[in-house]
Amino acid sequence: MKPQCETCRFWEFDHAYEGLCRRHAPTVLVGHSGEAGGTQWPYTDSWDWCGEYEPAEGRAADAGVGR
Ligand code: SF4
Repeated sequence: MKPQCETCRFWEFDHAYEGLCRRHAPTVLVGHSGEAGGTQWPYTDSWDWCGEYEPAEGRAADAGVGR
């Protein structure tokens, strides 16, 4: 199976072809002025992937996106 966020156990579908990677804790956001502005899980596209990919059984069938 080709690694991609859509079929990764850490990915949570949000809308369209985007979802949240929950592999790690949220990232602190820094604005243009250098001030921290809250936290956010990284958004990725369904076809993205990284070296920490782990397959989730049945995820591709559930997602219905990116194909
Ligand atoms: S493949 Fe990597 S970036 Fe994508 S959801 Fe999994 S851990 Fe996150």
